[in-house]
Amino acid sequence: MEKTCAECGEKIRGRTDKKFCSDYCRNSFHNKANKASSNLIRNTNNLLRKNYRILEELNPDGKTSVPKSKLLAKGFSFEYFTSLYTTKTGNQYHFVYDQGYLKLDNDFYALVRRS
Ligand SMILES: [Zn+2]
Repeated sequence: MEKTCAECGEKIRGRTDKKFCSDYCRNSFHNKANKASSNLIRNTNNLLRKNYRILEELNPDGKTSVPKSKLLAKGFSFEYFTSLYTTKTGNQYHFVYDQGYLKLDNDFYALVRRS
């Protein structure tokens, strides 16, 4: 069976366990993969930082509640957080570092700061 290079698609000569036709292609492939994962991490960190700033801004006193619409209007991304905390009564707080939020009944969120 003929194998082709994972980077350039050229036929690979010699050993059949090789994935790339050359060192150049192997390096180039891995550099691109590293770049993609760095971009992913950077974008995720940016979203977390943005979420953190929003929570910090809306919760200057460490405890408050805000309508969901206010968080959304500021560009808050509910799917980006750093940890979860479930209370004894079963309430689940999402935290972005030390800033937490808890969904309330009426489309409001309780904001808390972990001391
Ligand atoms: Zn190649």
